[in-house]
Amino acid sequence: MTSLDALVVGAGPAGIGTGLALDAVDDLYFGIMERGRIGQTFLDWPEEQTFLTPSFTGNGFGATDLNAVHFETSPAFGLGVDYPTGSQYASYLRGVVGHFSLPILDGAEVTSVTRIDDGFRVESPRGPVTTRSLVWAGGEFSDPRPPKIAGAAFSDPAGSPAAREPRSGRVVVIGGYESGIDIACHHVLAGASVTVVDGSTPWDAGRGSDPSFRLAPRSRIRLKEALATGRLALEAANATAIKRDGSGWAVGLSNGTKLRADSRPIAATGYGPGLGPVAHLFAERPDGWPELDDDDQSTIAPGLFLAGPAMRHGGLKFCFVYKFRQRFAHVARVIGERAGKDTSKLEAWRDAGMLTDDLSCCGVECAC
Ligand SMILES: Cc1cc2nc3c(=O)[nH]c(=O)nc-3n(C[C@H](O)[C@H](O)[C@H](O)COP(=O)(O)OP(=O)(O)OC[C@H]3O[C@@H](n4cnc5c(N)ncnc54)[C@H](O)[C@@H]3O)c2cc1C
Repeated sequence: MTSLDALVVGAGPAGIGTGLALDAVDDLYFGIMERGRIGQTFLDWPEEQTFLTPSFTGNGFGATDLNAVHFETSPAFGLGVDYPTGSQYASYLRGVVGHFSLPILDGAEVTSVTRIDDGFRVESPRGPVTTRSLVWAGGEFSDPRPPKIAGAAFSDPAGSPAAREPRSGRVVVIGGYESGIDIACHHVLAGASVTVVDGSTPWDAGRGSDPSFRLAPRSRIRLKEALATGRLALEAANATAIKRDGSGWAVGLSNGTKLRADSRPIAATGYGPGLGPVAHLFAERPDGWPELDDDDQSTIAPGLFLAGPAMRHGGLKFCFVYKFRQRFAHVARVIGERAGKDTSKLEAWRDAGMLTDDLSCCGVECAC
């Protein structure tokens, strides 16, 4: 049985980035396991979907490309685009893996994880592995969260192929943050009349400067164009129930009114943490997200770390690459020190502005 110092599960940006930081720890024996292919989530994105965060080669002046997972790389440089599609970004990730010769085992779905004396035993169709430290980087894309309302089963998740299929007549989208506005614009441009319902009105501009709480500029531009067609309405109310209504569907709203849809309503109500086989090894915060210590480690299973968009510290959300990448080198250092290895090369990550170990500086609002 293979026995490792560290194992990373998932070869998306969080897993590959963490792998790159682990690679900078001297003499650490580690690997990455991926159930599909490198960048599988991005290969599964709808063809026309692009990043919201722009890529730009600012690396030379310390402004590392927002979508890069290592400071010596830039999707803008390698791909020649500023808003990569999913397949382009997967190609960037493959390039990074090849350049740095990262040890990745693909087609290796982790099906169960159990605690053992000094670490974890991990099962996959490729056989069991034991590891002293484990980093869960399985992403959230496979864990769409349906609305908690009666009739939720009548809705299609915004990330599903069904939600993208052509729809005529009246379309209702539940949830008005990035995915909701994206799918609404998609159907408006194809000629449908769309109503987006969300009581928290994420489309309002006055929600601070953190893109985890307000729409990205690219989405605002698309929203403006869709509104100009006259076929998009934004409703400041929550959906309370979905029912069949003759040949269509009725969506009840918190303001007492009802909307009629000619196709199944689309649920853009976010994602859960997607913890799969390690869900039992994390305690839950009151808001349902995994409880982490200051080192992004499970509070009930020391040695198990979380990387990626499901990380929460206080009110901070890490749901963009440029946010969660700030923790790759921190986690690698903690893992390296546990294994008694030299972690000094990780200081290069700090010098490049890709290591934040004091999170108190992250909540700053832009002045103008
Ligand atoms: C529609 C959409 C648009 C987005 N746009 C942006 C954007 O513009 N900019 C940005 O920064 N972020 C964006 N995000 C967020 C983006 O998804 C995340 O930043 C990124 O995908 C998360 O990276 P990750 O590595 O954590 O997860 P993923 O990219 O999902 O990678 C997880 C990997 O783990 C593998 N895996 C899962 N379970 C197992 C298992 N049991 N065994 C083995 N392997 C497993 C999966 O196959 C997958 O390859 C967007 C997200 C969505 C849904």
